[in-house]
Amino acid sequence: MTIDLDFDRCHLWHPYTSMKEPLPVYPVAGASGVMIELEDGRKLIDGMSSWWAAIHGYNHPALNRAVTEQIGRMSHVMFGGLTHEPAIELGKILTGLLPDPLDRVFFCDSGSVSVEVAIKMSLQYWQAADKPGKKRLLTVRSGYHGDTFMAMSLCDPVTGMHSLFSGAVPEQLFVEAPSCGFGEPWREEAITGMRQALETHADTIAAVIIEPIVQGAGGMRFYNPRYLQRLRELCSEHGVLLIFDEIATGFGRTGRMFAMEHAGVIPDIVCLGKALTGGYMTLAATVASGHVANTISGGNPGLFMHGPTFMANPLACAVAVASLKLLLSGDWQTDVRRIERQLAEGLAPCAKFDGVRDVRALGAIGVVELDHPVDMASIQQAFVERGVWVRPFGRLVYLMPPFIIRDDELARLTSVICEVIGAEYR
Ligand SMILES: *Cc1c(COP(=O)(O)O)cnc(C)c1O
Repeated sequence: MTIDLDFDRCHLWHPYTSMKEPLPVYPVAGASGVMIELEDGRKLIDGMSSWWAAIHGYNHPALNRAVTEQIGRMSHVMFGGLTHEPAIELGKILTGLLPDPLDRVFFCDSGSVSVEVAIKMSLQYWQAADKPGKKRLLTVRSGYHGDTFMAMSLCDPVTGMHSLFSGAVPEQLFVEAPSCGFGEPWREEAITGMRQALETHADTIAAVIIEPIVQGAGGMRFYNPRYLQRLRELCSEHGVLLIFDEIATGFGRTGRMFAMEHAGVIPDIVCLGKALTGGYMTLAATVASGHVANTISGGNPGLFMHGPTFMANPLACAVAVASLKLLLSGDWQTDVRRIERQLAEGLAPCAKFDGVRDVRALGAIGVVELDHPVDMASIQQAFVERGVWVRPFGRLVYLMPPFIIRDDELARLTSVICEVIGAEYR
């Protein structure tokens, strides 16, 4: 049986893709370990972890077992009025991993929804605290928080295309992106815009939301942990809640279990997603402090106003439990450190090409930043022909491989990137 690519092209939307003139998509027959196998039999080394998610690689026996065992018991029951072991066990693991006051877990469907939930929590919090005027959100440029409307309103206004939806997207407050890099000495000016915005507008601001340490899809930027320490101080001083979006950074990707640990800073609410289920299915969580949860529950109407149909889906919770147990029983720190070193060394040769603006690595994230956007169709084809799966966006060619990747496989990924970028920019 051949795969019906015509149907796909005519009837299926793909992410950020034209329906009239879509770029080619490559049909996948299966995936195992770090290899993605195409329908035509070609095998590609995966450099993307399917957008930060598949940290243990594909088709993992322990994760497969967790899903099939859970299917035998129940795939789903509603979470209203009912509960189950997978949700409780996952909740215990998450609250055990997160720093202390973050221990009230709201399970939801996807990262974007977990951001919506965090924002709704912050609005209900101020309603309950008798400061209903605090409704606006403050964030930094170059961020990414998802594609639903409230989440989109907090993405970078330019790359997030706010002008397309003006009038429909809520207007939020933006300050400059953290300008002090991860390895650089701290410069206090880097927080000036944020400090001034908080000083001026605190009485109308409910929360600051930010991706800790790594700004992901908004630019793959790594910034100084001191920024988060200062931000925490400023939010506390001005009575504004702090939300960390750890959807991309959580579960080891930056070299710490959560990126916030680089700074030793604890937010009031954290959003988790992506790698939570090891890339098996969609699940996210918004975890708040007891203070936030109790304040909301003490206000009017005395409960939190959200409840997705598939809340705490048992299959997703069961595979998340298995994925976290796998992570915690292995030596992911050593793997991520090894990957970081190899990404930095392997991508370094790109720095000498004209047209390459910067090369950087942090944890299991390696980035080559170009001075203009790639030609997606041709670069994608060049990677596939060389047996790797790398999907750039805009000016960024980047790698975030599964943690189980071997040295020789990672070396292949970095050398192909150098070769492909070199061929175009030498
Ligand atoms: C991917 C991402 C989201 C959105 O998650 P979805 O599951 O795609 O809705 C939100 N925030 C960050 C930081 C992300 O990387």
